Amino acid sequence: MPTKVPITVAHGDGIGPEIMDATLHILKEGGAALDIETIEIGEKVYLAGNSAGIEPSSWESLRRTKVFLKAPITTPQGGGFKSLNVTCRKALGLFANVRPCVSYHPYVKTKHPTMDVVIVRENEEDLYAGIEYQISENVVQCLKLFSRPGCEKIVRYAFEYARTNGRKKVTCFTKDNIMKMTDGLFHKIFDEIAAEYGDLENEHWIVDIGAAKLADTPEAFDVVVMPNLYGDILSDVAAQIAGSVGLAGSANIGEHGAMFEAIHGSAPRRAGQNLANPSGLFLGSVLMLVHIGQADVAARVHNAWLKTIENGIHTYDMFKEGISKQKVGTKEFAQAVVAHLGQKPEKLKPAAYSTAERKPVPTGTLRHGATIDLVGIDIYVDWPEANPNSLGEKLSALAGDGLSLLMMSNRGVKVWPDGMAETYCTDSFRCRFMAAGGAPVSQEQTLAQVGRVMAAGISVAKTEMLRNYDGKQGFSLAQGQ
Ligand code: NAD
Repeated sequence: MPTKVPITVAHGDGIGPEIMDATLHILKEGGAALDIETIEIGEKVYLAGNSAGIEPSSWESLRRTKVFLKAPITTPQGGGFKSLNVTCRKALGLFANVRPCVSYHPYVKTKHPTMDVVIVRENEEDLYAGIEYQISENVVQCLKLFSRPGCEKIVRYAFEYARTNGRKKVTCFTKDNIMKMTDGLFHKIFDEIAAEYGDLENEHWIVDIGAAKLADTPEAFDVVVMPNLYGDILSDVAAQIAGSVGLAGSANIGEHGAMFEAIHGSAPRRAGQNLANPSGLFLGSVLMLVHIGQADVAARVHNAWLKTIENGIHTYDMFKEGISKQKVGTKEFAQAVVAHLGQKPEKLKPAAYSTAERKPVPTGTLRHGATIDLVGIDIYVDWPEANPNSLGEKLSALAGDGLSLLMMSNRGVKVWPDGMAETYCTDSFRCRFMAAGGAPVSQEQTLAQVGRVMAAGISVAKTEMLRNYDGKQGFSLAQGQ
């Protein structure tokens, strides 16, 4: 008997308890070696006054087991309730969201009968850092943050996932033709890490055409790794076109733990009637088995599930006259999967997972020791009359101490000097001050420049230091500069 792996289980709300019981029944009969600790999450906990939806004592279990199998929960109506998924993501450092999007043609309707794509989405960085500012009466901004360790972790995770799961190719989607520094870093790290995985194909697509291709010809993709925003959108597109939103499970993986769930919600109207399909949560639990090193059990239960689907034993949501053979409830579906243990599907592609020892979840590395040179400052100012020429004249006169006004931009477009009369200007201008020839300047010089602008009564919303790293420019040029 293999050593039992401790996991934390939450039965959730609505259909949660039924689909969790069904899932755990299949895992147990399939030979999963699990030591289950149960915690309470969701509606009851929220309504008892805990705005996070989870008791502080439950964290103790999660921190110990580091593996969380979570049924869907009902978020109570009204404000003040924090998303449990966001709380778990932050507390457990869940940087990778993994969502297999598979067609089960002809049992589930889809235009893409052979689709079998896994979306690996970065989960912590990008525009989701939640750093937003209003920088003038008319302009707001959101900071898009990428880090080297953050990109390394997700890209390496995608390649390791591909290798462990017998996949052939990893594709990267970015928009690095436009965002050369942020998306550019993601793409660069993808190329660096891809070189270490000679056994796997790799490719990069610009996200717009890549997304179009994914929606049109998903068969061309295998594992696709993406920054947070593109991954958020495209994982839903991929699940939808596979036809299997109600059947999809997902994994959230981090350095301090991992969480596995169905992608659907708690379907309160179906609760307590033995109707719900447990497949989404079950397929989430298959990802968990692979994660905890029980790949043989994962393949066994997954193949039994595929064979059950193939034999036409379906819950109400999948049931189709002419294709389905037997309409069953939640419990009976689980019993049917158990009865098919040891069998493999004949029409659908059988599941296979590598039993090689699992590598630890990747961690990123922080680099140190670059030579950093300060070469100027961007000062963001309010200029309600929105006229670049009057502002340019005023600021040029205020430049001093070795700095001069090099250019001004409005919403990223250069508008001074020699701006185009047609360019629409808002009331927020970015004003770039640098020394002649891009020579290094001191912090005091940049601060004195901010002081002179402020002293002239011009309101400053924010500043950005312009720096070079090992002689390489650490800031972008304005469009048209
Ligand atoms: P939902 O996914 O619960 O339901 C959407 C539709 O799909 C409904 O018609 C439902 O009956 C059906 N459905 C969903 N799962 C099914 C299953 N396993 N078997 C058969 N039919 C199924 O989405 P919703 O109605 O928008 O949300 C209901 C509640 O779930 C809300 O409180 C929401 O906040 C919560 N929710 C939780 C999670 C989570 O815990 N991860 C995710 C999404 C929504």
